[in-house]
Amino acid sequence: MASRWERLFDSVGHFGRFQACVYFASAFQAISCGIHYLASVFMAVTPKFVCSVPGNVTSILFSNSSSSRIEDIWTLWTSTKNYIVVQLENGEIWELDQCSRSKREGSLYLAYEYSGNKSVFSCSDGYIYDHTKWKSTIVTEWDLVCHREWLAKLTQPTFMLGVLLGAVIFGDMADRVGRRYIMWFTSTGQFLFGIAVAFTFDYYSFVIIRFLLAMVSSGYLVVVFVYVTEYVGIKARTWASMHVHAFFAVGVMVVALVGFLVRTWWIYQIFLSVTTLPFVLCCWMLPETPFWLLSEGRYEEAQKVVNVMARWNKVSTPCKISELCSIQQDDLVRCRTGDNDTSTAKKHSILDLFYNWHIARRTITVWLIWFTGSLGYYVFSLSSVNLGGNEYLNLFLIGAVELPAYVVACIGMDKLGRRNTLTPFLISSAVICALIMLIPQDFSILSVLANMAGKFAIGVAFGLIYLYTAELYPTVIRSLAVGSGSMMCRVGSIVAPFCVYLTSVWIFMPQHMAKRKIAVVGAGLIGLSTAVYISESISKCSVTVISDKFTPNTTSDVAAGMLIPHTYQGIPIHQQKQWFRETFDYLFEINNSSEASDAGINLVSGWQIFKTIPDEVLPFWSDVVLGFRSMTEEELKKFPQHRFGQAFTTLKCDCPSYLLWLEKRLKGNGSQVYARRIEDLWELHSKYDIVVNCSGIGSRELMGDLEIYPVRGQVLKVDAPWVNHFIRDGDGLTYIYPGIHNVTLGGTRQKDNWSLSPDPRSSKDIFDRCCALEPSLQRAQDIKVRVGLRPSRLAVRLQKEILVHDGKNLPVVHNYGHGSGGFSVHRGTAKEAARLVGECIAALEGSSLKAKL
Ligand code: FAD
Repeated sequence: MASRWERLFDSVGHFGRFQACVYFASAFQAISCGIHYLASVFMAVTPKFVCSVPGNVTSILFSNSSSSRIEDIWTLWTSTKNYIVVQLENGEIWELDQCSRSKREGSLYLAYEYSGNKSVFSCSDGYIYDHTKWKSTIVTEWDLVCHREWLAKLTQPTFMLGVLLGAVIFGDMADRVGRRYIMWFTSTGQFLFGIAVAFTFDYYSFVIIRFLLAMVSSGYLVVVFVYVTEYVGIKARTWASMHVHAFFAVGVMVVALVGFLVRTWWIYQIFLSVTTLPFVLCCWMLPETPFWLLSEGRYEEAQKVVNVMARWNKVSTPCKISELCSIQQDDLVRCRTGDNDTSTAKKHSILDLFYNWHIARRTITVWLIWFTGSLGYYVFSLSSVNLGGNEYLNLFLIGAVELPAYVVACIGMDKLGRRNTLTPFLISSAVICALIMLIPQDFSILSVLANMAGKFAIGVAFGLIYLYTAELYPTVIRSLAVGSGSMMCRVGSIVAPFCVYLTSVWIFMPQHMAKRKIAVVGAGLIGLSTAVYISESISKCSVTVISDKFTPNTTSDVAAGMLIPHTYQGIPIHQQKQWFRETFDYLFEINNSSEASDAGINLVSGWQIFKTIPDEVLPFWSDVVLGFRSMTEEELKKFPQHRFGQAFTTLKCDCPSYLLWLEKRLKGNGSQVYARRIEDLWELHSKYDIVVNCSGIGSRELMGDLEIYPVRGQVLKVDAPWVNHFIRDGDGLTYIYPGIHNVTLGGTRQKDNWSLSPDPRSSKDIFDRCCALEPSLQRAQDIKVRVGLRPSRLAVRLQKEILVHDGKNLPVVHNYGHGSGGFSVHRGTAKEAARLVGECIAALEGSSLKAKL
């Protein structure tokens, strides 16, 4: 814009009533540019899906959940590696994966696990989609999944290609035919193409019409910048041109809102396109800019526009175009006589942006900033919906954060200067990008906040670069520089969607690390408590418990569940004490909560009595239990056969209540539980990254561990609610343990005895011994006999092992061999096992990172 023409604004005002109306009307339409640029984030969503089947489905099975409706399964189906098992009306059983399906041969029994023959087929009957979030998207409409997935991924880049072309074509046309014709044409085109997209009949027509939509949208955006700068005087121009971006950002927010409200892609598209309508109906009222009219020599029309401006702005004497022109003519004469070299008629090319080293360096820097700005802008915007949490809110916030960014950019430019504002914001956006990679995927709030901070920083830099570029170059190559910069910007916006897609193939920092699949073998006390600990303490994993027996059929169900530690010969005492303390504290907390009765935990006081004074009168656990003290003479009189005693209060777990509570907690965490016998841990290799072996006495066979042996225990579970103190003979053989539902009377200790059949003689012996200690037990009712094999070892096996087979590794964490004291230390050993699992995960991440690098 020639500087002389600027005098026009001195006369009619830089941003009067007229300019305000024209500005807000034309910038309003930039909202729909923001809308169409980002609309694909929800339109091209890929929901959960699996292959369809040839027939009607009667039952569906996913892990241990069954249903007759697939809708119920989607909430459980968390990983694309999982499959769904369905049974058809004709009895056939199919396993449905995402991009293939297999028919189970010769099996009519519906079970999740299957090791027989299968025939694999492609998805020739289409796909079943999860419609809970989106009723339909272009992906579900045209099956853009599996081998057609790339088509869905191309929708945004092809749109951006249209943006590039539209900017070039309409930018040039606006100079030839005038700003307002192009604004009419492009905004009408936005409305018509926007609506037409909703009615496209296949993928290709969709892409073509969106390409045209992209061209007109970017055409409008390019021209509206010129339009507002030609109407707004220099004093308000920075703010005015900068805030056109803010209208674009409002468009992004509208996408989030409409996406939240409308879940069918074509209705969503119609709603978004209707935003253009008010402008389309009024745009013909917008006048041409006086500068373009003057450049075309249409002085009278220009004067008319100036007069209208003056009238609206309440200026009584508008400047005369003829006066401005005479000054301009003087300039021209001077220019032609060589007084001013800026008006040289020489044509300039892109090479002029590199005509000396100084300008070349500047051009490269400016191009890089345009590219980075646009790349960052679209990567932050497009990826916001993948950050976890509420995707609609994420996108809304990502749009909203731009509004203050432009205010900061304007203030920064005025107060600090262009470079001092641009540089720190560019650097901080880069630093934020690096930090985002380090945020674990589960921390969605942190990721959204970091993304917003990054978008804010890049918004400031991106908003500023338009004006800054124009100011960095001499007049003769200014528009060339801005044009080439905006080309770089388009390249950035075409590349951006690919960067967002990269996250699914490039696992790098913790942000994108895969969830590790962990199988826990064994659903006794140790298996369930370890699985609970892992699932609650390690965020990047999914836990599955696999066991051949569950409560009430495990050894753990037989146990009395008293927290009185057994001493393991092969483990340092401080370690055993720590395990006991951790277990005691954990159960004590449950006991003091509303969960206590569900979990079957209660506090119980009583006596441990000895016929002779023991070597260790103060056991290592004495300061963990409550109120530990020696028994008084008075108390000992109750047990005339015994010379010494200890009184204390401890905790008791009632099995199976406690196991059921653990299982419920586990399922509540999203973990799965399957019934299956494992013959060899290698069976689990194909599906799981890490196996935790909690198979108790089963480890003798499963691991070939001959160090573990059974110590047979027989107990009686009786109904004697009046007994509320425990009595334990110091030798550990005879005990009376009152619990929430019954009293456990024990017991036997028969090393290497594998028999699970109750022995009537042992039962009588137990009963007699217990009655000798507590005669009232004679009246006990409902006597049940239970037998269990204590999984005994010199030391609990709590260690990592890497199984190697055919050059493949399977990390295993062992946690078994708790013998007579499993209940007393289960939480402590579960914690240790979870720590070892964490080490295995770290090792796996390390090796996968190395492999990728
Ligand atoms: P289990 O409960 O036996 O669980 C092992 C699990 O592994 C089972 O679910 C099994 O089905 C599964 N499994 C095994 N092999 C395979 C395979 N190949 N494939 C798939 N799954 C497999 N401790 C105390 O602290 N206090 C007490 O008061 C107490 N009293 C007891 C009284 C008696 C009579 C007995 C027998 C034990 C007592 N204990 C007590 C000890 C305690 O019960 C055990 O230490 C504990 O139950 C061991 O738990 P676990 O999970 O290792 O074994």
